[in-house]
Amino acid sequence: MEDRFVTFRMEKAKHIALVAHDGKKKEMVDWCDRNKEILKSHFLCGTGTTARLISEKTGLPVKGYNSGPLGGDQQIGAKIVEGQIDFMVFLWDPLEAQPHDPDVKALLRIAVVYDIPVANNLATADFMLHSEYMSGTYDRRVENFNRTVQERVEKMKE
Ligand code: PGA
Repeated sequence: MEDRFVTFRMEKAKHIALVAHDGKKKEMVDWCDRNKEILKSHFLCGTGTTARLISEKTGLPVKGYNSGPLGGDQQIGAKIVEGQIDFMVFLWDPLEAQPHDPDVKALLRIAVVYDIPVANNLATADFMLHSEYMSGTYDRRVENFNRTVQERVEKMKE
């Protein structure tokens, strides 16, 4: 029987997603600017507006997906599922309702399913960025979906 969990290896250079709601964009851009010496060793991506603002202010290359309300959160979620994003700073705004609230929830959920470190505020982002794991590899523990699918298929056939 296959193991219930598999490991996904995070390499030394992390694939980092950066997302900030409008009320948090300035905080995000300033945080990236303060930390650009560290961030330049990693691969950065983000939702459309956040990615563009960070690039313009810091000069760091940030691959931009669609804007969050237009599906950017879902694109980032899909990349997490594919194992192409392994670290996220997501500054969601606790004081403002969002039109794409279901997408926000979905992204936060999938990040937990795939055991990726997620910072939802600057203090957590600082602790994560200065973790000893940033300069080495790290094995995340992810449910073995091949086994889950196999079990479900067997069950549905009963
Ligand atoms: P934005 O999207 O970076 O395009 O503003 C962020 C979000 O609202 O999820």
